[in-house]
Amino acid sequence: MSNSFESSVMSQRIVLATHNPHKVEEFAAIVAAVRPDLEVVGYDGPEPVEDGITFAENALIKARAAAAHTGLAALADDSGICVDVLGGAPGVFSAYWAGHRKDAGANLDLLLDQLSDIAEPHRGAQFVSTIALVVPDADGTGAAEHTVEGVWHGRLATAPSGTGGFGYDPVFLPDGEGGRSAADLSAAEKNAASHRARAFAALVPLLERLPG
Ligand code: IMP
Repeated sequence: MSNSFESSVMSQRIVLATHNPHKVEEFAAIVAAVRPDLEVVGYDGPEPVEDGITFAENALIKARAAAAHTGLAALADDSGICVDVLGGAPGVFSAYWAGHRKDAGANLDLLLDQLSDIAEPHRGAQFVSTIALVVPDADGTGAAEHTVEGVWHGRLATAPSGTGGFGYDPVFLPDGEGGRSAADLSAAEKNAASHRARAFAALVPLLERLPG
């Protein structure tokens, strides 16, 4: 993977390869804070098949597709929950753990059920977010590719708690939050500590170096 932007296209725009409005808002805010000169645009081109087996592969698949379709620098993310005793699963299967209905409640219930006999010391888990940045070459012959990762360590609860957030938040007890679940945290508290916040922090130096 290249670490150089030197042959990158001079672009005033950056495309976000996500349809999740919550994520678009978060990405737009971080880009605006770091690079107010860049216009953030949404991606409405063809959707690639996310057949990677790591968060980084899937984030790159999405960013490459958006960069190739638009000719712009492209950002994409992939994320999920990784449970120690399950060897890192659900991982890239987090959104579909209980089947292809993308049912957050069923996913969470299945995960709790699978760990029902597992004692507290063995319930370690992490939320992971990987962000990919793909910057096409000016001549369209290649692209510089970068990935950054953010990890939020914690434990899997034995029962859901809290009404905030989304997905697995009610069953994730982040370290250092006094036993509160991610869904018990305020949006500001979660945004300050989460895996995505950590990945965004790692993205900042890359955004700073992006040509204007
Ligand atoms: P994706 O990155 O949009 O594909 O999300 C993958 C899945 O991981 C989501 O559907 C959620 O189940 C889970 N996930 C990712 N980030 C979070 C989070 O911040 N809270 C709860 N669940 C999350």
